[in-house]
Amino acid sequence: MLLDCDLIIFDCDGVLVDTEPMTTRLIAESVSHFGWEVDQAFAIETFKGKDMADIVAMVGEKLGRPVPELTEHYRAKMYAELEGGGADQMPGASSLLDALDALENGPRRCVASNGPRRKMQASLISSGMADRFGGMESRTIFSAYDIKKWKPDPALFLHACAQMDSTPDRCIVFEDSESGIEAATRAGMRSVGVGGLTPSSKLAAKGATVTIERMDELLPILA
Ligand SMILES: [Mg+2]
Repeated sequence: MLLDCDLIIFDCDGVLVDTEPMTTRLIAESVSHFGWEVDQAFAIETFKGKDMADIVAMVGEKLGRPVPELTEHYRAKMYAELEGGGADQMPGASSLLDALDALENGPRRCVASNGPRRKMQASLISSGMADRFGGMESRTIFSAYDIKKWKPDPALFLHACAQMDSTPDRCIVFEDSESGIEAATRAGMRSVGVGGLTPSSKLAAKGATVTIERMDELLPILA
């Protein structure tokens, strides 16, 4: 059965916490600010799931001049909104975690994100998700910045898997971005593609084992 595994690795933004509408809007605003006029739909299509260094490089190439200030410009706006206003949980995420908690000998879980730790902290705490993973000081929260390798590189998932004493064939990744699904596939892990801003068909094309629209769609198979 699908969730027969030892470890579930959850992406943070767009899987546990509903930050993607805000972050893709702010990316579009920031990129436009530096002279490449793009809208949110374009930002979702082009930048979602990418790390900031890649985005800065793409924008620099498009504009024909380096734009290292883009990261700071975007982050200042993002932290102001995230730490000021709070973030919502993704619909159905909490119910799925409740159902996993209720299982006897159910899988363990962790979070692995391309975002910096400060962003993970702001998202997970303001949405109330941090406590579901043992708090921010627990050893179950992994940032790509800790190992300086970002999805679609499989290194972050393999790192989380090793730190949690599991093996790739016993892990399942939950991801909402193409780069995250690609990272799971390259890590030799099964994956659940959470469709939303990115259509499920694109997640399936990157190797998602199954795709869903909401996390609580999986409740019937856990019951
Ligand atoms: Mg995501």
